[in-house]
Amino acid sequence: MIARRLLLTAGFAAGAVALIATPAAAQDTHTNKIKAVATFSILGDLVRNVGGDRVEITTLVGPNGDAHVYSPTPGDARKLAAADVVFVNGLGLEGWMTRLVTASGTKAPMVLVTKGITPRHMQDEDKRGRPAIDPHAWQSIADAKIYVANIRDGLVAIDPAGKATYDANAAAYLARLDELEQEVKAAIDSIPADRRKIITTHDAFGYFGAAYGMAFIAPEGVSTEAEPSAKDVAKIITQIRKQRIPAVFLENISDPRLMDQIARETGAIIGGTLYSDALSEPGGPAATYIDMMRHNVREFAKALVG
Ligand SMILES: [Zn+2]
Repeated sequence: MIARRLLLTAGFAAGAVALIATPAAAQDTHTNKIKAVATFSILGDLVRNVGGDRVEITTLVGPNGDAHVYSPTPGDARKLAAADVVFVNGLGLEGWMTRLVTASGTKAPMVLVTKGITPRHMQDEDKRGRPAIDPHAWQSIADAKIYVANIRDGLVAIDPAGKATYDANAAAYLARLDELEQEVKAAIDSIPADRRKIITTHDAFGYFGAAYGMAFIAPEGVSTEAEPSAKDVAKIITQIRKQRIPAVFLENISDPRLMDQIARETGAIIGGTLYSDALSEPGGPAATYIDMMRHNVREFAKALVG
């Protein structure tokens, strides 16, 4: 796996060198729109809501993509080279960006959308044994509002003539986020307090849990990288019983027999698909940030209300 990643990186770097020699893409403008790049699909949707018609948005990691382990392509370097402004999450999410930015030669300003957010730490440790910073701040709607304010300010800085538009778009979208926040709080309130806990394999809901009062528990002693073994499943079953966990969302167990076994032996509800780090394809259940949050909360409530 490491060898493969290195190979891809080497191939990418070679492509990027060729790119710098021929930056024709940057001049290829068919519209007068501001060219914005967002690093992943959720951020792209937030930028679209604030930018409206003045902005043309490109995302690097698309729907259903994994921004943690992305391997950039020469096409991504071209997108950055042509960009007027680039929006990044930071907090360690896009570890691949620094290299990509250098290789692309882009001069576009980078807007760090998590500026002003109080970062949380994860149970995982980084390479030096410190608790890792949790990048999934968008899972708290209060933090998503900070993203929106930073996006608005970033667009106004690059395109002052659009200030009135960006202000109005941001205000309208922030009002929708206020409604969403009330909706999410009401949905969580409908779940009995002692049932607000689930096991998830992807540790992506720390901000959500802290904001809305739900516990997201990692399977103990089980690798979340690979398909669990029979022994892993036995451990998960013991943990569910001991901690009285009413529902499990195990996105990396694809074998339905293992899921059936967990459900049968513990009585826990097996939850549906959650969207944490990427939107679904357009037309799917989580095609926008707001739809994603609604979808997840509906899945939690369905599994936990009992
Ligand atoms: Zn994640």
